Order: sequence, then C-alpha cells, then structure tokens
Amino acid sequence: MMLQGLSEKLQGVFANLKKKGKLSEKDVKEAMREVRVALLEADVNFQVVKKFIKTVREKSTGQEILNSLTPGQQVIKIVRDELQELMGGQNEGLNLNTHPAPIMLVGLQGAGKTTMSVKLAKKLSQDNKKVLLVAADIYRPAAIKQLESMAEQQEIDLFQLGTNNSPVDICKAAMEHAKKYGHDILIFDTAGRLHVDDKLMDELDDIQQATSPCETLLVVDAMTGQDAVNVAQNFNDKLGISGVVLTKLDGDTRGGAAISIKAVTGAPIKYIGTGEKVENLEVFHPDRMASRILGMGDVLSLIEKAEQSIDADKAKELQEKMKNQQFTFDDFIEQLQQIKKMGSLDQILGMIPGLPSKKLKGLSADEGDLVKIEAIIKSMTKEERVNPSIINGSRRKRIALGSGTKVQDVNRLLKQFEQMKKMMKQFGSMEKNLSNKKGGF
Ligand code: GDP
Repeated sequence: MMLQGLSEKLQGVFANLKKKGKLSEKDVKEAMREVRVALLEADVNFQVVKKFIKTVREKSTGQEILNSLTPGQQVIKIVRDELQELMGGQNEGLNLNTHPAPIMLVGLQGAGKTTMSVKLAKKLSQDNKKVLLVAADIYRPAAIKQLESMAEQQEIDLFQLGTNNSPVDICKAAMEHAKKYGHDILIFDTAGRLHVDDKLMDELDDIQQATSPCETLLVVDAMTGQDAVNVAQNFNDKLGISGVVLTKLDGDTRGGAAISIKAVTGAPIKYIGTGEKVENLEVFHPDRMASRILGMGDVLSLIEKAEQSIDADKAKELQEKMKNQQFTFDDFIEQLQQIKKMGSLDQILGMIPGLPSKKLKGLSADEGDLVKIEAIIKSMTKEERVNPSIINGSRRKRIALGSGTKVQDVNRLLKQFEQMKKMMKQFGSMEKNLSNKKGGF
C-alpha cells in the first residue's frame, strides 16, 4: 500500500492517544513530536512539516478539545483535516473548457509521461470523450514507438509526424487534425530530459504559446522524494503548471511528495499512478488520501473501483445463485477473477476502513493463495466444480498433483467452500426474514 510506513507510524501514535481518557497539553506535544518524526521519515518537506505541526498543535491544545469527552478522537480529526488541506482540499478535476481541449504532459525523462498519457487517454475515452494522443517527443524515436504500440493496444487514436518536424509544428498540426476529425481532447506526450534545462523549457513554452493548453500537467516520479518537489517547483517557475500527476506511488514509495507538492508549489495533484498497467490510475482526492493514511479507509474509491471493474449483470447473477445455493466452484473462480481486476489485493485492502495497515503485510502474502486456489479449481473436472461432494480421496490426490499443490491445500479449499455455502444459506434466510418483516420488498 502507498505510504504504508507513514500510515503505520501515525496509526501507532494515535492508538496510544485514543487509549487515554483525558489528554494534557503535554500528551499532545509528545504525540506531535512523534508525528513530526513520522512525516520527516516519509520524506515530507521540512518546512511543510514544521508548519503542519504548529497548526495542529495550536488547534489541538485548546481547552474545548482537551476537556471534551473524546480528546484523542478530536486530535485525530484535526490531523486528518489538516492533512487534507495540505494536499489541496478537494480535487477540482480537469479544466477542459475549450473544444478541442489540449492537455500537455511535461516532465523529466523516465517520470512516466508516456505511460500516463495513455492511462489518461484511456480514462477520458471511458468517459465518452474522443481522445487524440500526440507524439511530441522527437528526440527518442523509441518514445514514439512506445506510444504507438500502447495507443494501438488501448484503441486510442494517435497523431505523429515522425522525428523530422519540430514539436511545436507537430502539436499545431495535431490541433488541426483534431478539429477536422472531431476529437474532444488532445494529449501531448512531450520530450523529457534527465535534468531541467533551458532548451527544454523554451521548447515546452513554445508549445504552450502555440496551442494554449487547458491543462499543463507535470508528471513526477514519487520515488524521487524531495527531488520530485524540487522538480515541480522548477517547472512551475519556468512554465506555470496547472496540476501535478504523481507516478509510481505503488510499492515502497515513502510518498512524502504526495503530501508536500501542493504546499510547496501551489499546484494540486490531480492524478496518481499506482502501477505500470494502464488501469493503475487513480483520481487524487486529498480527503480520501488523508483518511487512507490514518487508517480510516477509503470506501468511496473502493466502490468506484468495483463499479469500473465488476460486471453488474454478473454480480447480480452471482447474488441470485448465492441466495438459491447454486453457487459452484465455477462461480467462485469467476468471483476471484473479478476481485483481481480491481487491483492488487494489497491496494484493495488498503481502502478498507478499520484494517490497521500492519495487518496488511500479512494479508498481502495471500496473493499467492489466490493463485493456488485458482490452480486447484482449474484442475477440477466440470462435474467436480458443480458438485464438489463427489471429490473423494483419489480425486483429491489427482487435483493436488494437477495443480502443483498438496492434498492438504485441496482439503482446505473444499472445507472453506463448504463453510462459505453454509454462511450464504444463513444470509439467504436472514434476508428472507428481513424482507418479510418489511412487508416483502
Ligand atoms: P517517460 O520517459 O516519462 O515517458 O516515462 P515512461 O512512461 O516511459 O515510464 C518509465 C518507466 O516507469 C516505465 O518502465 C514504466 O512502465 C514505469 N512506470 C510508469 N508509471 C508507473 C507507475 O505508476 N508505477 C510503476 N511501478 N511504474 C511506472
């Protein structure tokens, strides 16, 4: 889970605070000292941390807080609200007020621009926009090829003029093309460099002047920590950016950039990249992120993910089967696959409220279990999947052999499946009782 280290530490601090019935000014001071260390360790900008702690401490040591019935909870709420404020308050979405609307992606080489331009194009086309990707990085011929192949895979239109025209001319020609063919949005994948340099900035400035983009989004790599913030400040000074896209917030990223960037540059984070795949894109919501960091979960993002990835008709069908106890191993595997489509187990669990992030480490190992379960079910015959009661000793042995697992694994899965069916039966009758009481709707 992103920002796991910080999340764990803050949850530790607040668990102690909540235990205390009454808080003294000293307790708050002590807790804030720990929060400060946790933020610095997560690579949050020093000045940002200083100001944050000062604000929280002032708000938390007021008598109305300390004398309230739940001082610990109140302090946590103050921290949550301040974290949200720090990260930009509310996500304002993209400003797409011209037609066609050009979006310019800028950033250093390797930050994830090309990947992000395809992710964004895909997302916007899912919102029924006609999107044109524009290959404006003429210095790395491989960049055009990469964009071309990703665009083709995702069935997004691409505009390119090879490497013999200037980036400004390419973008201008792309605007004409978009007008002619009715594209709503253009995404310019511009060139990067290893470091910020004047020539690059001049070129990007020329594109900006010539096309008046609705959004100039800076793509930065979250793994570079404080450097990401410096790069953002540099681009903002020279170019004026309208927002930031933070990539590589998956894995072990300490993630401090997510917390510092808005405060340092004034530019809000609009999206985050959480993996190499095209679907690993999330809209950045400061409020939800603050809740996630403090272990309060992010149910809204979870629901959105489920809506995007889970086929509603299939879900309904499954529900009916569960109610009527016709649920088979075939359905089970289908359900597993739907869950997997939502993202890694790790990412999904991170959004569930009340699951302390420490527990996630143990749970994420279960990804291997999912693979095992799938292999076992796939080794069953059609008949066995529908009617598991016929799976006797010799069948169990065969299934274990076929799936590269042990007989105990097969036994465990069969047992779990039986338990699940029993539980569904109970749910089914519970629901019936309830709907009878409510007058049967
Ligand atoms: P560009 O030079 O800025 O266009 O960067 P690319 O789009 O080519 O990305 C550089 C590398 O980062 C590629 O290997 C991508 O697969 C990888 N990458 C991009 N976004 C993410 C992300 O959100 N998470 C992870 N783990 N890798 C990413």
